[in-house]
Amino acid sequence: MYALVLVEIGVKNVDKYFTYHIPDNLEDKINIGIRVKVPFNTREISGFVIKIINKIEDNNYEVKDILEVIDNEEVLNLELLKLGEYISSKTLCSMITAYQTMLPKALKANHKVAMKPKNEVIAVLNKDTSEIYEYISICSYKKQVEILKSIIENGSVKVISSNISSVTSLANKGLIKTISREVYRYNDNTIENKHTVFLNEEQSKVVKEVIDNLNTNNTYLLKGVTGSGKTEVYMHIIKEVIDRGMQAIMLVPEISLTPQIVSRFRQRFNNEVAVLHSGLSDGERYDEYRKIKKGLVKIVVGARSAIFSPFQNLGVIIIDEEQVTSYKQENNPRYHTRDVALFRCKYHNCPLVLGSATPSLESYARAKKGVYRLLTLNKRANNKLMPEIRIVDMKKEIRNNYHNISLELENAIKEKLDKKEQIIILLNRRGYSSMLTCKDCGEVIKCPNCDISLTYHKTSNTLRCHYCGYGTKVQDTCPSCYGRSLTMYGLGTEKLEEELVKKFNARVVRMDLDTTTSKKAHSKIIKDFLDQKYDILVGTQMIAKGLDFPNVTLVGVINADASLNIPDFRSSEYTYQLLSQVSGRSGRDKKEGIVIIQTLNPEHYSIKYAKDHDYDGFFNYEMRIRKKLGYPPYYYLTLIKILSRDYQLCMKEANKVGEFLRKNLPSDVIVLGPSIASTFKVNNIYHFQCIIKYKKEDDIKEVLRTIDNIYKINTKVRIEMDIDPVRL
Ligand code: ADP
Ligand code: ZN
Repeated sequence: MYALVLVEIGVKNVDKYFTYHIPDNLEDKINIGIRVKVPFNTREISGFVIKIINKIEDNNYEVKDILEVIDNEEVLNLELLKLGEYISSKTLCSMITAYQTMLPKALKANHKVAMKPKNEVIAVLNKDTSEIYEYISICSYKKQVEILKSIIENGSVKVISSNISSVTSLANKGLIKTISREVYRYNDNTIENKHTVFLNEEQSKVVKEVIDNLNTNNTYLLKGVTGSGKTEVYMHIIKEVIDRGMQAIMLVPEISLTPQIVSRFRQRFNNEVAVLHSGLSDGERYDEYRKIKKGLVKIVVGARSAIFSPFQNLGVIIIDEEQVTSYKQENNPRYHTRDVALFRCKYHNCPLVLGSATPSLESYARAKKGVYRLLTLNKRANNKLMPEIRIVDMKKEIRNNYHNISLELENAIKEKLDKKEQIIILLNRRGYSSMLTCKDCGEVIKCPNCDISLTYHKTSNTLRCHYCGYGTKVQDTCPSCYGRSLTMYGLGTEKLEEELVKKFNARVVRMDLDTTTSKKAHSKIIKDFLDQKYDILVGTQMIAKGLDFPNVTLVGVINADASLNIPDFRSSEYTYQLLSQVSGRSGRDKKEGIVIIQTLNPEHYSIKYAKDHDYDGFFNYEMRIRKKLGYPPYYYLTLIKILSRDYQLCMKEANKVGEFLRKNLPSDVIVLGPSIASTFKVNNIYHFQCIIKYKKEDDIKEVLRTIDNIYKINTKVRIEMDIDPVRL
């Protein structure tokens, strides 16, 4: 027998399959999807068995033996194998890239360090308790008595270096025996059963619709305003799913940002929950993954990669905040979690629930067309009204010398501080100042590797590039004219924090990428703010989503224009979503909440519809624009990036790619570019791009694959294909 083995060597995007002979002693251990070690040139590498064949055709090369089997069961089951094929055809990645991305590090092919389950040894009784008591009555060793009593009381005792000699002598007498058992590294102690919430009428209707159809492959879009109790709905659906002996995947955008949801699930479902997110160590992740695989848990709560949880009998997949762009992986394979979920739900014939207060235009359009089933929650669960939103025109404020914080926001902050209520302030820009400019010659200090201005960080007193991580000391002379008039512009969260402390003498905590680098930092800030150790939480968009602080009654948005000005056709949509989400943090509990949004564009429709909590109004307006300009959801897009360190070469190849696309794609496909990408140079690599717009996906795949194949092996120019990009 022979096996076709897929390995990862050389160029990552090119699949390499090799045939190996299966030695007799391994024959009954080798299945499709298992990892094996094989000889390759002078090395040993590992790979996945993809196919088993009886005979191979005559060949003139030597077929080597498989050396060993790595795991005692397959790491890729039939479903994952098929899913890999789907991801590969959908995103144009290689099979090996697709498989590697689905597995935790410890189970990938060619993982260098062997990861082992962690075991502990425990001692348990080997005789009746009456015999044990008999021994205790005559035993003169205090330690042995202690151990025996502890085992009687607790069922077992962990064997450690300090008790091993006593344990051994007790075991030699046949009174106890030692056994080895597996322990799981991830530990979270929030276990405590909380009472179940009784659903209100709206919620019950939604839950009923889904659980009455658990054996159908419906896709639901649950559109529920912030605080309408979507999480509660998810938990009720999942309860039904596990009661019927099936499993559930619950996805959230980024767990470290929403620790509250994990504890809610743990409180409700105890240790039937596994957690998968980027904050876990490789060992913890490996253990959580194995718990899922062995069926020791029934629910996974996790971020994007949890969509690959190897459940055998899935009953539902839920994607909360379905509009969030982090559900799309930014590097190869550029898959969208929603697409993977659609595939898996179809495979398991179970429903997919997409939830959001502000669904993506694509999903809402599908729901309106009847492709998805629309479910709605129009009221907040506790019948609270949505917060009042006020818009402040910063053009006027600046004339009156209010630059960063308007008079209206200032007064509101004072009032809330007096009442001992809490405040959230959003500023979507980290650092102290976003730009250092020379007043004499106009020079902007840019990153030497990127075409991006450097941001000043006061805490570290450095200028830093937010794209490549470059950092440098702050100069006081202009590198261009040697003048001494360098001035800082642009407010960042660091400076805002400083200003708030000074102005209001308040207790302020900041949450952005810079204050949350350590593992537990997020949850600490969130907990401290919840415990009212601070009055004001300042932060970037990471404070906008999913947090539930009952005492927050004021949300301020410093600069709503930041997201309006990004060069992306979705900037209005992102702005609407951000403003709605952050507004949803205000007045969630008993007290009324308000929201104050500062902007230079008070007439912009994103801001006006957000003010009125009018998602449908926004949707209809934005859809007309998308239609006119030919953007999603009316057209599909693919972004083709041409990258090189050599500017001239990059431009030349970009033109070639453009020509090739125009010549080979069907005439109704629109090709834009090549043009300079919005991030023109990052890390000394130039970016050009072409965008294609089309109605049918099948029309373009072959042509894109052709280009992809040409550049796969080119060392000077690289191509990146992003099908359905979430960012331009
Ligand atoms: P969402 O996820 O839609 O923002 P949550 O599920 O977080 O909303 O619910 C908001 C708040 O309302 C939470 O504190 C939750 O415990 C509470 N809640 C949800 N449903 C109910 C209900 N049926 N009865 C009472 N309280 C509820
Ligand atoms: Zn840089």
